[in-house]
Amino acid sequence: MKAVRYIETGRPPEVVDIPTPAPGPGQILVKIGGAGVCHSDLHVLDHGIGMPGPFTLGHENAGWISALGAGVTGWKEGDPVAVYGPWGCGSCHHCQTSAENYCENHASIPTFGGGLGSDGGMADYMIVPSPRLLVPLGTLDPVKAAPLSDAALTPYHAIKAALPLLTPEATVLVLGIGGLGHMAVQILKAMTSARIIAGDIDETKLEHARELGADHVFNSGSNQAADHVRDLAGPRGITVALDFVGAQSTIDLCTQVVGRGSRIAVVGLAGGTLHYAANSPPYGTDVSIPYWGSRKELMEVIALAANGRISATVEAFPLDQAVDVYQRLREGRIRGRAVLKP
Ligand code: NAD
Ligand code: ZN
Ligand code: ZN
Repeated sequence: MKAVRYIETGRPPEVVDIPTPAPGPGQILVKIGGAGVCHSDLHVLDHGIGMPGPFTLGHENAGWISALGAGVTGWKEGDPVAVYGPWGCGSCHHCQTSAENYCENHASIPTFGGGLGSDGGMADYMIVPSPRLLVPLGTLDPVKAAPLSDAALTPYHAIKAALPLLTPEATVLVLGIGGLGHMAVQILKAMTSARIIAGDIDETKLEHARELGADHVFNSGSNQAADHVRDLAGPRGITVALDFVGAQSTIDLCTQVVGRGSRIAVVGLAGGTLHYAANSPPYGTDVSIPYWGSRKELMEVIALAANGRISATVEAFPLDQAVDVYQRLREGRIRGRAVLKP
């Protein structure tokens, strides 16, 4: 079968032929319908994640069950599924509550998940090590649904934790309207009536945010960005700032515009540092560094999509265009999420 492989840090991914795997005892073989192309893969390709290659990329996957390994029950061939991405030990306290994204034993597990240390979904088929990592998709199309498992789940997890602050008179800032950010705007619209201010450095992304229902959009690269956001937010300041970039400039902007008793969630991994000094960020600010989401939250995200409340904007490409698609993502030329379709 064809697969898009991480080889080693600093090298572009390669599209190669590898044998189709067979599921061992307890495992499931999933026929991939779609594999989302996440910006995190660019960090993996450029800087590594401490996991040796080669492995197949793709940590945002959906498809259909193709074969069950010995002992797997409760599923059957052809069932449409999303693959829950962060693979924990399955038995610690967090994993027992379905939050494998915060597995206590992550340091001793030799993978972060499929596409992040283990073979992922940018291939015709993928092995999922346990049925506990599958979530039913119902009637959703796997190509449209693949981004739900990360591009939607990650902002959903960040927004859900901030819900007590997201009252109708609150103002929320969303920075970076790419794969994660364009889902964040929709999730905020579906779950809150807070006012949404969306920032990006690319006008087409701002136009996208406007189409999805953001109340205000602004170019966060401008020198007046902080003043502009403060003017829009009014005396209370930004109540919740969601940073889907994580660069020094965006973290600094969040720090400058939130009010007292607010929240900053840094989701993006662009390498910025949050500096603390007295009252900066302002007193009472919670800072969170959410990672991905729980399996229960993935079920909730899938329900939001099934109810028609959120929908990923998807550009689909064949697997053998993967190298070009990563380049387009790097240059900011993907609207919403790119999905590779075997
Ligand atoms: P993306 O490339 O689809 O979108 C990034 C967006 O940010 C683009 O619209 C781009 O124009 C914009 N942008 C870039 N620099 C900017 C700046 N200085 N100011 C404002 N906007 C800027 O990326 P994505 O797949 O949505 O991922 C976003 C980030 O989140 C990445 O760093 C990724 O690694 C990270 N991520 C984190 C988690 C987690 O669990 N913490 C999960 C998934 C992705
Ligand atoms: Zn990701
Ligand atoms: Zn665990």
